[in-house]
Amino acid sequence: MIDLHLHTTASDGSASPEALVERASAAGIQVLAVTDHDTLAALPAARRAARAAAIEFVPGIEITAIDRGRDVHVLGYFVDAESAELAEFLARQRTDRRRRVIEMIDKLDRLGVPVDPAPILAEATLETERALGRPMVAAALVAAGHVADFAEAFDRYLGYGRPAFVARVGASPGEVIATVDRAGGVASLAHPGKLGDDSLVDDLIEAGLPAIEVYHPDHDADVSDRYARLARDRRLLMTGGSDYHGPETGRIDALGRVGLAPREYAGLRAHAVARGWRP
Ligand code: AMP
Ligand code: ZN
Ligand code: FE
Ligand code: FE
Repeated sequence: MIDLHLHTTASDGSASPEALVERASAAGIQVLAVTDHDTLAALPAARRAARAAAIEFVPGIEITAIDRGRDVHVLGYFVDAESAELAEFLARQRTDRRRRVIEMIDKLDRLGVPVDPAPILAEATLETERALGRPMVAAALVAAGHVADFAEAFDRYLGYGRPAFVARVGASPGEVIATVDRAGGVASLAHPGKLGDDSLVDDLIEAGLPAIEVYHPDHDADVSDRYARLARDRRLLMTGGSDYHGPETGRIDALGRVGLAPREYAGLRAHAVARGWRP
């Protein structure tokens, strides 16, 4: 199986790059892409570990864009980790994540469910390039005993429109797709089935979106079939993966169960090789 969607401790995953590769290897993964939110920090260590485990490694990223107030996740594959423009763009994304986490913790304080910001903020410095996000705040709420689990933290406080929610500031999906392209990467719209309707999908395809995530744990067989058909009709490349975050994050563990078949990966890989990518 080929898994092109996994998170590490560089963002909101619970596994280090090394531990992640070990788990992926045990699950029978042959090709793996690490796609942390708004950071490339895990790529060097993940690449080394994958090489040692004889797993093909694809450098990746999952960037949060905003469309009319809602989050739209855009995956980027085969990006040039040396791109200064991409690095500066991601640094701005992480600065906004930090601002947002601080404001959410302020709101929680006023709501009478205080959490200590220090350990969260200490992990995300300019040097670590770690991307903060709501899951870290959810974990702090659990640790402080204010909620039982991540689901309750999002339902009661952190989810869209809940009392500690803070809106994000950032680029549109179109701008993110262009940024990935200029960094030599292939952009893929992440889990389109979670968007609720396909109007944005159609607009982005019209604007030149090269790929779409067909396989994802939140896509049932009907939804995957629909996007596989869309990809064939509109000549898009297909991506897919488990969106693994680790069992500690309260999500379904789809490692080794959701991903791309080798023949589906072949098209994406050939496209990257034609653009100069070497594994
Ligand atoms: P952020 O990056 O700050 O927008 O946080 C979004 C992340 O929170 C997503 O990528 C998910 O990993 C996680 N998330 C969102 N909703 C939930 C939920 N109800 N339960 C657990 N994790 C969630
Ligand atoms: Zn995540
Ligand atoms: Fe996502
Ligand atoms: Fe993800």
